[in-house]
Amino acid sequence: MSRKISEETREKVRQRANFLCEYCHTSEHWQYVRFTIDHIFPNEDDSLENLALACFHCNRLKSNKTEIFDTEDNKIILLFNPRRQDWKEHFEWSKDGLQIVPKTSIGRMTINVLELNRERVLRIREADVVVNRHPPKED
Ligand SMILES: [Zn+2]
Repeated sequence: MSRKISEETREKVRQRANFLCEYCHTSEHWQYVRFTIDHIFPNEDDSLENLALACFHCNRLKSNKTEIFDTEDNKIILLFNPRRQDWKEHFEWSKDGLQIVPKTSIGRMTINVLELNRERVLRIREADVVVNRHPPKED
């Protein structure tokens, strides 16, 4: 969702996220365009607590979703919330740095919904590993 958010707020969100998409942990530094601002809960306000930095693809796939039915566990679970949860508790990088591996059911379902290991992204990560700019140093 894109609404009018002040430039000052956008900058705070970007810096807080260390310029990483808060879902797929792609770095904004190597992109042609700046990342978007995601409303974690689409119907809530524009406060910093409801905003996350998201690359175009994660934002588009997340859209208005906040939860999903998990057919494996047979229950509804909330998608990963970067304000309330720690990325490293739900995800980790595979040894070669290419795949995001889930550590929890929230991680697993978020990877599915946002297609965090889609083919095109794997190829980009592969090229970024070679030039030593992936995975992000923070991870
Ligand atoms: Zn992303």
